[in-house]
Amino acid sequence: MLDISLIPVLRDNYIYLLHDTDSGETAVVDPTDADPVIDALTSRQWPLHYIFNTHHHGDHVGGNLGLKRRYGCTIIGATADRDRIPGIDVMVGEGDTVLLGRHGFDIIETPGHTSGHIVFHCADSRALFCGDTLFSLGCGRLFEGSAGQLWHSLQKLKALPPDTNIYCAHEYTAINARFAGLLDPDNHHLQARIEQVANLRAQNRPTLPVSLATELATNPFLREHDANIRRHIGGETVSAIEAFALIRHLKDQFH
Ligand code: ZN
Ligand code: FE
Repeated sequence: MLDISLIPVLRDNYIYLLHDTDSGETAVVDPTDADPVIDALTSRQWPLHYIFNTHHHGDHVGGNLGLKRRYGCTIIGATADRDRIPGIDVMVGEGDTVLLGRHGFDIIETPGHTSGHIVFHCADSRALFCGDTLFSLGCGRLFEGSAGQLWHSLQKLKALPPDTNIYCAHEYTAINARFAGLLDPDNHHLQARIEQVANLRAQNRPTLPVSLATELATNPFLREHDANIRRHIGGETVSAIEAFALIRHLKDQFH
């Protein structure tokens, strides 16, 4: 079995700890910082074998070198980010698979937020670690890519099994919900999710993971084809990529 735990850090980052109960192998996804990971590993009496990095931003790789020094773990990241991921040992790209015990994690390249962004998909455990590419009710900002690039990246994630659990790197859901609600006010799936998110956050609980099925029914960045959303953004006749770009632009202006 793959045991997945969530470590909240900074204001809204999540670090994920993955432990294969059969082999005892452990990995961490996007360690913002070494200390909270060391604390979590120590309390569980686990070693650390791997770091999986989705992209090079500091809030995702800040703990790399401290953890490598302490555990001698292997750091896995995108070939495209070979010069930007501290301590990288293994470089991967589209179609590669990395193993944690017997669990395979398929690498999917998802440029857009950054040019070298990758996500880790574990089909047997129905888990997707998507960094800053996809958020619940949102998606990553375009720092190093075009709207078209990120749209293509999101199409790959939309094609995964709908019962996939999505583990995003940030707790942005409540803020995203306010924007999504304006674009898609008559969507009852969205209204139900907004209510659930408000309840979870009121108890200081995470809104993640979330199923891909829920995101497909509620996330405006996966629903740029929807007629109601298009009416709200004044984009009834534009292409899918143009509609997506418009939604991304509106979100960037939204506070
Ligand atoms: Zn980022
Ligand atoms: Fe981030």
